Amino acid sequence: ASGRRSNKVAASFALGLQDAVDGQVVTRFPPEPSGYLHIGHAKAALLNQYFAKMYHGKMIIRFDDTNPTKERSEFEETILEDLALLDIHGDAISHTSDYFDKLYELCIKMIETGKAYADDTVQEQMRAERMDGIASKHRDDSVEDNLKHFAEMKAGTQEGLRWCIRAKLSVDDPNKALRDPVIYRCNVLPHHRTGDKWKIYPTYDFACPVVDSLEGVTHALRTNEYRDRNPQYSWMIAALALRPVHIWDFSRLNFVYTLLSKRKLHWFVDSGLVRGWDDPRFPTVRGIRRRGMTVEALRQFMLLVGPSQAIVSLEWDSIWAINKKVIDPVAPRFWAVATDKMVRVTIKGGPEAPEVKSLPKHKKNPEVGEKQTTYTSQVLVEQEDALSFADNEEITLMDWGNAIVRSKTVDYSGIVTAIEMELHLAGDFRKTSKKIHWLPQASSAVVPVVLLDYDYLITKKKLEENDELGDFVTPVTEFREDALADANVVGLKRGDIIQFERKGYFIVDQAGGEKMEFIKIPDGKAANLASK
Ligand code: ATP
Ligand code: MG
Ligand code: MG
Repeated sequence: ASGRRSNKVAASFALGLQDAVDGQVVTRFPPEPSGYLHIGHAKAALLNQYFAKMYHGKMIIRFDDTNPTKERSEFEETILEDLALLDIHGDAISHTSDYFDKLYELCIKMIETGKAYADDTVQEQMRAERMDGIASKHRDDSVEDNLKHFAEMKAGTQEGLRWCIRAKLSVDDPNKALRDPVIYRCNVLPHHRTGDKWKIYPTYDFACPVVDSLEGVTHALRTNEYRDRNPQYSWMIAALALRPVHIWDFSRLNFVYTLLSKRKLHWFVDSGLVRGWDDPRFPTVRGIRRRGMTVEALRQFMLLVGPSQAIVSLEWDSIWAINKKVIDPVAPRFWAVATDKMVRVTIKGGPEAPEVKSLPKHKKNPEVGEKQTTYTSQVLVEQEDALSFADNEEITLMDWGNAIVRSKTVDYSGIVTAIEMELHLAGDFRKTSKKIHWLPQASSAVVPVVLLDYDYLITKKKLEENDELGDFVTPVTEFREDALADANVVGLKRGDIIQFERKGYFIVDQAGGEKMEFIKIPDGKAANLASK
């Protein structure tokens, strides 16, 4: 079935990339080293990888490091780690800064050929002139003047700092992205790779088309909010007589009840509402992987929504439901009982001394292996199950057989404190309506664990631009529950995905330490706390 699914996915890409030649396609993912990757970046990265593989070409990871004010080397390392969490390694790693010499030369060439000019119009006025289609007073300055100002910029002088370089494209094109965009700026801060060498930095609008072309990129994947800038991209390449590049646009990915903005995510980290960038409540690659999202599910999901051009906020359920289909066939099954108010059950007819049986960890998939289940004459069950039993009701103890509830002790507050059952192994499990999990009453066969579940960080489905973030913070978003689990969980490693039967899927978050900790994996069902 999964084979059929991926064929269907591939079919939705039947058109593929324009003019793609097998073996010659080059794509690139261009993150700015200014933070951690989130699920939106994952879409861009996975699509680039998908097309590179589809055409047996290659994918470049290019750090788009043209703004020393925001960028740091440590983020290059964390981004590569984030990509590794997505199983993306890239065929080459490069930096826009590798091309600073070349970009500088090309900017000179633009000025010399009359395709760019220096401007010192202050920002607000420039914005207003652009809106109104008014030419800058410097638009027709001489090449000599322009070169002189560019040299001041390059030296990083007080004078140079006032100037920028603009492409001479159009004053009043209806597409405002074409109204003489800025291509070089002065910035005297040291760059994390080139240090003090440069005081001038190309803008994204200039560096992106030039470096795409120079690096051999054949297809540049861009989010469609840049669509207005596509003609500008092609203009830069034509103006410099460089090799053309195809643009393939796709929509930005967004989800309800979350924030895909580095600034807002920073705010949550700084205000201590989450424990870090890998917090399981975060939409970062680290956060969702830690919450139990598999790479396979991410890939399937991104291919399903990949070609869509609509910019909408998607429901988290849709991606978690895909994840569930990926993990269900392979997640080993164990049992856990909430410690609070668990009920001791005496089993009449149970074994006098503990007995151990080897059972499959997954009934439909023997490859998952075997576990040891211990049978004792006293067992533990959930309060919720105990409460539901009627007198003399026949129920099924999972992996054991039927039993009849003979007595139930209830305290003044209505809590069940003890139960007696009588085994009835001849009974038919198909005839009982309750099939419950249980744990042996034997200290060597159970271990204390913590089960964690999370709610959305914000209370509003879609925050508006001027909503005050602080007004929409969910007061409590972490829920911890103590439980006992069957000792077969000992030996699981961090990141292992399991199912506690009748509770749901969990990922091991802490394997060592005093108690193992498991994080609940949303499974896309609306009944889940996490997807309320
Ligand atoms: P910031 O988060 O600081 O606004 P950015 O989102 O532009 O910056 P980059 O590191 O420049 O982050 O992004 C790298 C690539 O990821 C770009 O190609 C960008 O288009 C893509 N990308 C970023 N956010 C999303 C998103 N929500 N959906 C799809 N692609 C995205
Ligand atoms: Mg960017
Ligand atoms: Mg962003």
